[in-house]
Amino acid sequence: MKYDYLIVGAGLFGSVFAHEAVKKGKKCLVIDKRPHIGGNVYTENHDGINVHVYGAHIFHTSDKEVWDYVNQFAEFNNYINSPVAYYKGELYNLPFNMNTFYKLWGVKTPGEAKQKIMEQTEEYAGITPSNLEEQALSLAGRDIYEKLIKGYTEKQWGRNCTELAAFIIKRLPFRFTFDNNYFNDRYQGIPVGGYTQMISRMLDGAEILTDTNYFDFIEKNPDIAERIVYTGMIDEFYNYRFGALQYRTLKFEIQRLETENFQGNAVINYTEKEIPYTRIIEHKHFENSNCNFTVISKEYPCEWKPGAEPYYPVNNEENNCIYEKYRELAEKEKNVIFGGRLGQYKYYDMDKVIRSALNIAGRIN
Ligand code: FAD
Ligand code: UDP
Repeated sequence: MKYDYLIVGAGLFGSVFAHEAVKKGKKCLVIDKRPHIGGNVYTENHDGINVHVYGAHIFHTSDKEVWDYVNQFAEFNNYINSPVAYYKGELYNLPFNMNTFYKLWGVKTPGEAKQKIMEQTEEYAGITPSNLEEQALSLAGRDIYEKLIKGYTEKQWGRNCTELAAFIIKRLPFRFTFDNNYFNDRYQGIPVGGYTQMISRMLDGAEILTDTNYFDFIEKNPDIAERIVYTGMIDEFYNYRFGALQYRTLKFEIQRLETENFQGNAVINYTEKEIPYTRIIEHKHFENSNCNFTVISKEYPCEWKPGAEPYYPVNNEENNCIYEKYRELAEKEKNVIFGGRLGQYKYYDMDKVIRSALNIAGRIN
């Protein structure tokens, strides 16, 4: 055996695991089928603007250990995500807060806002929400649901809100202060210089092969490593024997514009169904880049098909049931560890992926 670990996927999970294993003296080979490292957090420098090629990535966490951990590899700036929603020609602050309520109803105090929301949610009082629509209506009421949630969510997931799990919307804060910070977490920021540089530092000491698909590679090199860390799709690993899991993918349309400031904010969400994209990202606003041009990307969600990148697991009951069968198989593996969003089929944020990689790597000796 040439390596202690063959790590499949140079995304965050694979890179954190590799860093920890190298620290313990293990010999690691990291492979990725894409032509670059970083997985979905990959950024590309366009003449001074770090473009988040696979969609906006804002680092946020309340886990101090994880925050200290990432700060070893990069300096983080003080970016605070404050997206704005565009609905039928009007702009609303996100997440749902006093600025949003003022714009929607003209209410000026938390008391007035609570009264308005109580009127709107009355019919759902005491009901345990069984799907995303009920969750949204019981939490926020009809106006917010119709204008800011329904269209965006149905585009994003390609399913009716009545068919989606309530937990998806629980990610969004709801507060009665004039606070447009999208996250409730203690720590937040963007790595200065981009995520790719941060990942490259994590991978220091490991060997890396990009443009390398695991399935072809392992056929030619069956004895390459003692153990495998696999962060690709778990259903693909097992050749879909219990059926294919569902994923959502995105098409990114990246454009350079010869204007200094296109939309005045890093993230604008388009919440009406008639507009086919969910967000426009203006990348320079993540790092206050000082250029006389700009780069934007539009995100068009669609259903995943083989050949596309599987960005979001669709964690509904049917898929979770199938995943459970794969997980049982995975647990019996002696020499394969499954990790990350695709290996564990979980809608993980970056900090949770790092936490999980640290926990798993902490157990190796
Ligand atoms: P990935 O980054 O997907 O890495 C897996 C790697 O494995 C990929 O590079 C893939 O090419 C490779 N691979 C797969 N199969 C094979 C194979 N057969 N052979 C070789 N290589 C293979 N999180 C946040 O905290 N904040 C955000 O703002 C945020 N925004 C997001 C926006 C979008 C559009 C998306 C999709 C996700 C966002 N996330 C965000 C989540 C974040 O991207 C993930 O938590 C994190 O990137 C997952 O890391 P990973 O290593 O599990 O997976
Ligand atoms: N969401 C919404 N309106 C918005 C933004 C988000 O209804 O303007 C819903 C949508 O269902 C989305 C979920 O909230 O899938 C979680 O949003 P988040 O921004 O966390 O999504 P992600 O960054 O993971 O795509």
